Amino acid sequence: MPDRVKEKLLEADRLPDIVPGPDAYRDLPNLIDAVRGTGAKAMNVQLSVEETYADIIPVREVGTHSAFVTIMRGCDNACAFCIVPYTRGRERSRDLASIMYEIRSLSERGIKEVTLLGQNVNSYAGDVTSATTRDFLSQLVGEDVDAVELVANASSAGLAGAQGSAFVGYADGFKSRYDPERKREGTIQFAELLDKVASVDPEMRIRFTSPHPKDFPDDVLRVIRDRPNVSKCLHMPAQSGSTATLERMARGYTREAYIELIDRVRMIIPGCAVTTDIISGFCGETEADHEDTVSLMTRIGYEQAFMFAYSEREGTGAHRHQKDDVPEDVKQRRLQEVIDAFRAKAGEKQRMEIGSTHCVLVEGPSKKNPEELTGKTDTSKWVIFDDAPTGSYAGDARSATTGSHRVSPGDYVAVRVTGCSTGTLFGELLGKTTLTEFQRLHGAQWTTPAEAVAAAR
Ligand code: SF4
Repeated sequence: MPDRVKEKLLEADRLPDIVPGPDAYRDLPNLIDAVRGTGAKAMNVQLSVEETYADIIPVREVGTHSAFVTIMRGCDNACAFCIVPYTRGRERSRDLASIMYEIRSLSERGIKEVTLLGQNVNSYAGDVTSATTRDFLSQLVGEDVDAVELVANASSAGLAGAQGSAFVGYADGFKSRYDPERKREGTIQFAELLDKVASVDPEMRIRFTSPHPKDFPDDVLRVIRDRPNVSKCLHMPAQSGSTATLERMARGYTREAYIELIDRVRMIIPGCAVTTDIISGFCGETEADHEDTVSLMTRIGYEQAFMFAYSEREGTGAHRHQKDDVPEDVKQRRLQEVIDAFRAKAGEKQRMEIGSTHCVLVEGPSKKNPEELTGKTDTSKWVIFDDAPTGSYAGDARSATTGSHRVSPGDYVAVRVTGCSTGTLFGELLGKTTLTEFQRLHGAQWTTPAEAVAAAR
């Protein structure tokens, strides 16, 4: 956080020569010129209301099969515990043309998985009129002209009909005190962006992080359901299961609204995995508030959770206006109880996976055993399976295919789950496949074991 620590870094410790803020990367040449050979120090921590780095395409490692694409920056919320709005500035979204260009380029390089990034990724609201494809392409420096033309055509196709639309509102029961709805009128919103990005390459799996639950209205959920290559794993940061604590956190929703949203996710996208973030021991949290969080863990049954004891950050709303009054030992005890509740339910859900078959994107050799491979399911679960020659998967989940294909990182394979621990699935390699082929065979990116179907009845 350069702006918060600038005095300490430059004046007290005198360690760095340059302190650039997150919106000052374009100023790096000037900052370097200012200090070169002078012994001076230079700093630019000015936050921008416009900078998206849309025309700066990152240089990526050759041979990789996954990539991150930033689509927006900043945050217009003001959660009491969070420093992000003060260090990253206001929300601003990258224009659609530059995003489509980058996605298309990644597809042409054979990238199999793209994660869309933003501090509030599903608050995306791109201005369709600020930059046309041609304006954007004219800013690119050093690109091959033919490739630019090729991608221009592809991007133009993706832009067709992208005229912006009326803001459909937040998920039911959610509100934002700091996000004027009118700013989204006539913009490309997240549902439309996600649909266009997913349409570029049906063999490219699309994920996104980090979302805010308020920005999951039904149209976003329907795109996730209808696009087979959009991951069926949603991160839904709850932070607390207590309405009173959520109010003190300024999260903009109640426990009931949050539970209703997750029920809606599971109704519209059956089998969708849900993950979360939880803070234990926030300012003013009572035992009853804590019990509400423990019961939320059981009620929802998360596939993954990132759980922490509250730690006050200087400069946040909570630091200025609330008291960090839960003793450290109480925070730790409550955190452990939340973790225990999460693990009990997550273990159950893992065991219900046994017998299912997943379309898995191969990541590489297992760290513990180089004769095994690891990969990730559509629902973002890690799977370990034997690295063996195999054939082409034809839909028979009862037996492995035989063949001489070697499996490499970036391949899609069908894997039947045969065992599990709390965090990992173990499986049998059934054969190589593709996202579209697996979908054609099974109608989804995984099959559900018969026992789980029976238990759900
Ligand atoms: S927790 Fe997320 S939504 Fe809340 S202020 Fe921080 S970045 Fe914004």
